[in-house]
Amino acid sequence: MAITVLVVEDEPAIQELVAVNLAHAGHHVIRANDADAALRVVQAALPDLMLIDWMLPGQSGVTLARQLRSDARTKDIPIILLTARADEQDKILGLEAGADDYVTKPFSPRELLARIKAVLRRRAPQSTDDPVDLGGLRLEPATHRVSGNGQPLSLGPTEFRLLHFLMTHAERVHTRVQLLDRVWGDHVFVEERTVDVHIRRLRKALEPTGHDRLVETVRGSGYRISARPG
Ligand code: CA
Repeated sequence: MAITVLVVEDEPAIQELVAVNLAHAGHHVIRANDADAALRVVQAALPDLMLIDWMLPGQSGVTLARQLRSDARTKDIPIILLTARADEQDKILGLEAGADDYVTKPFSPRELLARIKAVLRRRAPQSTDDPVDLGGLRLEPATHRVSGNGQPLSLGPTEFRLLHFLMTHAERVHTRVQLLDRVWGDHVFVEERTVDVHIRRLRKALEPTGHDRLVETVRGSGYRISARPG
């Protein structure tokens, strides 16, 4: 599944190598040369994953990782640190700062892609092609199919992404702002009530098999998908 990766790296040759290989694997790549530029990108839209070089001009990659983890809006962004340091102590420091994984330079593009896949599976299942099952509802990202008790259901692209996110984060309540951030991404010009419109369409699409019941409105908070009765 194609994801948006923000590459924070000041060395042009490495930035290029990483970007070309990610693009080749079908991913959308955004580049930043330092922490400030990266934060401006994140401010506008949350990337699906960040590759952050440890040694950056100005604020270090580790400090940037720590900063992202301490902010409620950015704390769930999967982070992989790139570094020339192979020291065990450095590795521990990087992981303590909140990085999900650590890749030592020089690395092969294949290794990097494999690490990305593993981190996404663990941290952002909505960004993988793994099928998701919940209460008789099945969503298959690879084929864009949804079914309820084996019966095919028809969903629009936004409803599909919304359902994918909710199913991979089941039982948790998400505010409209969080859903805009995580499902819409670049939502500067999208109003919060847009979420309500698409939740309504999603429920309508799930109605034929009665799975609209799984999509709950949590008054004053937002929405949640739950397979638990009541
Ligand atoms: Ca560097």
